[in-house]
Amino acid sequence: MTQAAPIATGIIDWALGCVACGATRSAEGLPTVCECGQPWLVRYPARTHTLVNRAEIRRGHGMWRFRPFLPLLPHESPVTLGEGDTPLLQVARLGAMMGLEDLWIKDEGCNPTGSFKARGISAAVTRATLAGATAFVLPTAGNAGVAAAAYGARAGTPVRVYAPRTTPGTICSQIRAFGGDLELLDGHIGDCGKAARAYAAETGAVDLSTLREPYRIEGKKTLGLELAMQLGWTLPAAIIYPTGGGTGLIGMWKAFTELLEAGWVTGPLPRMYTVQSDGCAPVVRAFEAGAERAEPWSDPWTVASGLRVPGPLGDRLMLTALRESGGGAVAVPDEDLMGAAAVGSRLEGIDFAPEGGAALAAARRLRQTGALGPGERVVVFNTGAGWLYRSPEPIA
Ligand SMILES: *Cc1c(COP(=O)(O)O)cnc(C)c1O
Repeated sequence: MTQAAPIATGIIDWALGCVACGATRSAEGLPTVCECGQPWLVRYPARTHTLVNRAEIRRGHGMWRFRPFLPLLPHESPVTLGEGDTPLLQVARLGAMMGLEDLWIKDEGCNPTGSFKARGISAAVTRATLAGATAFVLPTAGNAGVAAAAYGARAGTPVRVYAPRTTPGTICSQIRAFGGDLELLDGHIGDCGKAARAYAAETGAVDLSTLREPYRIEGKKTLGLELAMQLGWTLPAAIIYPTGGGTGLIGMWKAFTELLEAGWVTGPLPRMYTVQSDGCAPVVRAFEAGAERAEPWSDPWTVASGLRVPGPLGDRLMLTALRESGGGAVAVPDEDLMGAAAVGSRLEGIDFAPEGGAALAAARRLRQTGALGPGERVVVFNTGAGWLYRSPEPIA
């Protein structure tokens, strides 16, 4: 493996460790995946965090306020559109309806480009740009494509996006509006992934696929860091999160572990619940079977396009986080997730995406089964904005 010499102005103070075989490598250059085919995760052996730093964090803004936990050196600047600092809203009416007295929504639809994908893509585009990337490619179920197009534009770098032909029309227009070179394919995100890898091999474009580079997870970590800060450095009892590729879940779990190591929060860590649609639930099926890996789901379909990931590369990491946290996995029918999104939007004025609706429907189910207690603090993630899934209504 060739390694570039460290640049004199700042030496990268993190390393990469393989999640499966335990191999390690330096983070110089443009790392992809381990030789064994599994993802790298970032480790920061040289960083120390004191409670003084914790107070300083409050004075920053956006997700990059957490740079002591992120892959950025003091003299480096991120590629940013102001992502992060999204609202954490207590929802009493919705909570009363669902029998949850302390229910909160983390509204990630307020990010630039309308979804939490902004966080991961900001981190990945930042590192790749600093390492000299001149083109990007990404397969997407939708929202990651919007984010990649926008952050590529911000970095001044062209972006090729592969998405399924069934991707919501408004999402496709947003990708094109930010200058993304969008190719629609028959099939699902797995098929788009193959096209993206071929394009990367042919052109040298940097592949931003989920977990095929190590930094999107680091950006997603800020979901967990920000939540802890907004709750006064405490953590909720349970987190309900709609899952596709799994970076949000894996990133948050990594964040909580790092906060615990830093002594910025005390345990217990939240129980993590993953939510998928009945039409594509490989992680739920594997969780219920007690399996370590998820078998790919055949003929995946759901209106919640972000959840249409039949064979996630992060399956092992997700299943570990769910089990270590004492949480669980829930699949809901499309009808229920659309219904819950509509009720949530009308009752609270929050623009729920179908994926956020899935998390709401799952919270209701988990309350009914007794997995969530009535007084427990529960945070439901609305991962994107509902308007991205609606076509404009014709003016009469
Ligand atoms: C991508 C996406 C998801 C799935 O997120 P992962 O972290 O990849 O599991 C959920 N909701 C929305 C709106 C998305 O765009």
